[in-house]
Amino acid sequence: MTEAQVETKQFQAETRKVLDIVINSLYTERDIFVRELVSNSADALEKFRHQSLIEKIEFDAHVPLEITIDCDDKTHTLTFTDTGIGMTKEELETNLGTIAHSGSQHFFEQLAEAAKKDVNLIGQFGVGFYSVFMAAKKVRVQTRSWSGEEGFEWASDGGGTYTISPCPGLHRGTKIIIELKDDAQTYSSKFTIERIVQQYSTFVPFPVKVEGKTVNTVQAIWTRSKNEITEEQYTEFYKFIGNAGDEPMFRLHFSADAPLAINALVYVPKENFEVLGMGRMQPGVNLYCHKVLIDQHSENILPEWLRFLKGVVDSEDLPLNISRQSLQDNALVVKLRKVLTKRFIKFLGEEAEREPEKYLEFWKAYGIFIKEGVTSDYEHRNELGKLLRFESSSSEPGQMISLEEYVGRMREGQDKIYYINGPNRVAVEYGPYVEMFKKRGVEIFYTLEPIDDFVLNHLGEYSGKKLVSADRADLHLPESTENKTEETKEVGEPLEAGALEQLCQWMKEILGERIAEVKASSRLVDSPAMIVNVDGYMTSSMERLLKASGQNEAFGMGMKKDMEINAASPLIKKLAALRASDVTFAGDVVEQLYDNAMIQAGLLVDPMTMVKRNYRILERAAGEPAAAL
Ligand code: ADP
Repeated sequence: MTEAQVETKQFQAETRKVLDIVINSLYTERDIFVRELVSNSADALEKFRHQSLIEKIEFDAHVPLEITIDCDDKTHTLTFTDTGIGMTKEELETNLGTIAHSGSQHFFEQLAEAAKKDVNLIGQFGVGFYSVFMAAKKVRVQTRSWSGEEGFEWASDGGGTYTISPCPGLHRGTKIIIELKDDAQTYSSKFTIERIVQQYSTFVPFPVKVEGKTVNTVQAIWTRSKNEITEEQYTEFYKFIGNAGDEPMFRLHFSADAPLAINALVYVPKENFEVLGMGRMQPGVNLYCHKVLIDQHSENILPEWLRFLKGVVDSEDLPLNISRQSLQDNALVVKLRKVLTKRFIKFLGEEAEREPEKYLEFWKAYGIFIKEGVTSDYEHRNELGKLLRFESSSSEPGQMISLEEYVGRMREGQDKIYYINGPNRVAVEYGPYVEMFKKRGVEIFYTLEPIDDFVLNHLGEYSGKKLVSADRADLHLPESTENKTEETKEVGEPLEAGALEQLCQWMKEILGERIAEVKASSRLVDSPAMIVNVDGYMTSSMERLLKASGQNEAFGMGMKKDMEINAASPLIKKLAALRASDVTFAGDVVEQLYDNAMIQAGLLVDPMTMVKRNYRILERAAGEPAAAL
C-alpha cells in the first residue's frame, strides 16, 4: 500500500468529545463493549438478510451468516468478525467518523454527566461502537460492503484522527481488530469473552463463535409463535433462564403490539423458595430488546411482589442501550410494567377458573405474594382481590374460596363481607365472634394468617361490598329468619334491663381505662363476653402484629375497645347475683372474664396475674373457701 492511499482524517469535533469521555471517564463495566460490538454485528447480519430478501445478491452469497470472535492472549488482540452487510468507504467515514446526533452543547453535557454515572448510558446516545476504546489501544475496522465494492480499513487509537486505506481481498462483512490496553488484557482470554457473550448475547439470532465454538446454543423461543414450540423446548428454556432443576408450575407466553411491542415468556417455579426459608428472592425476569440483554434480573419491569417469576421480556420499542438507572423512570418501562402485571394477573384469574385445584396449589405456595401485592401495589389492588382465597364458615376445613364466590351467595339484606382472624379454624369456630354468624346463617371468612387482616383492610371493599372484621363494635348482621320466642326459651330469660345496666357500669369501674365501655351484646349467643374494636379500621389481629413487631407505639398503646356481655348467659346472670353477696370475688370474676375475652381476641394478657386469680377462682369452685378472700 502506498502512502498516498492512506488518508488521515480528523474526527468530527463531537466525536472527539465522545471519545474523550469514553476513554477518560469510564472505568467500570467495561464488559459492555463486547455486547455493543456483537449487537452491531447482529444488526449488520440482520440488514444483510433483509437485503437478500429484497434482491438477489451474487457476491459472497455462500458465506454463512455468523459472528466469530478470536482471542489471542499472546499478542493481546481480540477480533470480531461478522458476515453482515459491511460498509462502503463513505459509510465507514460517516458511521465511524461522525455522530448522527446533533452536536449541541447540551448533548455533551448530558453525555459526560451520564458517563460518570453509568457506562450503559453512553449507548443511549448512539455511540456504542466507541465504547471499544474503553479497552482498546488501537482499533482497526476492515470492512467490505455486500455490494462487492473493494474493502477498506479504518484505523484509530481513539485520539483526534483516524485513517482510511484500501484493504483488498476481504469477504463480505466487517472485521474489528482490537489491540487491547495493558490493563484490559483479560479480554484476550476466551473464558472472559465466552462469559460476557453468555451473559449479554446468548439470544442473538446468529451463531456467535468464540474460538470456533458456538456459545449461544439456547434459542430465543419467546419471539416464536406458541404452536412452533414443543413442551420440551419450553421446559429446557425455563431451566436455562431460571437456572432451575425443576419443572415450572405455570407458564405464560404472550405477545402484544399495543400499547407497545412485547414478547414475554414467564414461568412460575414449582417451589416458592422464599417461603422455604431461602431468604428474599431477587427478581428473576430479564429485559431484552431485540434479543439483546438490557437488564438482567430486572427490578423495573415488574412490581416487587412478582419477584417469584422467572423468564424474559423483550420489547423492541425500548432503546437498546437504555441504562439500568434510566430504566427506573423511563415512561416506556412504566408502561411495560403495567401491561405485564395486568396480563399476568389476568392469566392467574383464567387459570383459577380453568383448573381450580391447581390454582389452589399455586395459592398455597405463592398466596403470600398476592397478599403482598394487595398491600403494596395500589394500582392493581382491585384485580388482585379476585385472586385471594380464604377458608370460610361455609367451606370444608382446608378448602378455600374466593371473594367472588362469597359475594355470589351473600344473604338477602347483607351488604358487607365479613371476616375474622384466628390462629386456626377450630379456635375461630369456637370463639365468640362467629356465634351470631352461625345462628343467622351468614357466611364469614376465616383469615388464619396474621397478615390477612392487613390485606383485607387495604383492599377495603370488593365488588362494592365493604370488607368488615367481625371483631368490630358496630356490626349489623342481617336479621334472623328464625322464630325468636323459641330462642329465648332455650337459654332462659335474660337479665332484666335495669340490673344489666348497673352490672355494665360496675364492670366498667373495675376494668377502668382498659376498656371504653361495657355494653350488652346483641351478637353473643353462648359466650358470656367478648372484646370488640371501636375504631373500625384496625382489628385485634393487626394490633397483635404491630405489638409483636414493636410498632404499637406509633399507634398508641392499643385501640379503643368495648367489652360486650351476654345478658342471657347463665354466668353473667350469676355474676349479677354474686356482686350482691361477695363483691370482691365478683370482681375477680369480672377480671377473669375480661382476660378470657382478650385471649379469645388473640390479644395478650398478663399471665402471672391471670394464673393467680384463676387459682383463687378454682379453689372456690373446688369447694374450699379461698385463703386470700
Ligand atoms: P449505533 O449502533 O447506535 O448506530 P454505533 O456507534 O455503535 O451506533 O455504530 C455506528 C454505525 O456504524 C452503525 O449504525 C452502523 O451503521 C455502523 N456499524 C457499526 N458496526 C458495524 C458492523 N459490524 N457492520 C456494519 N456496520 C456497522
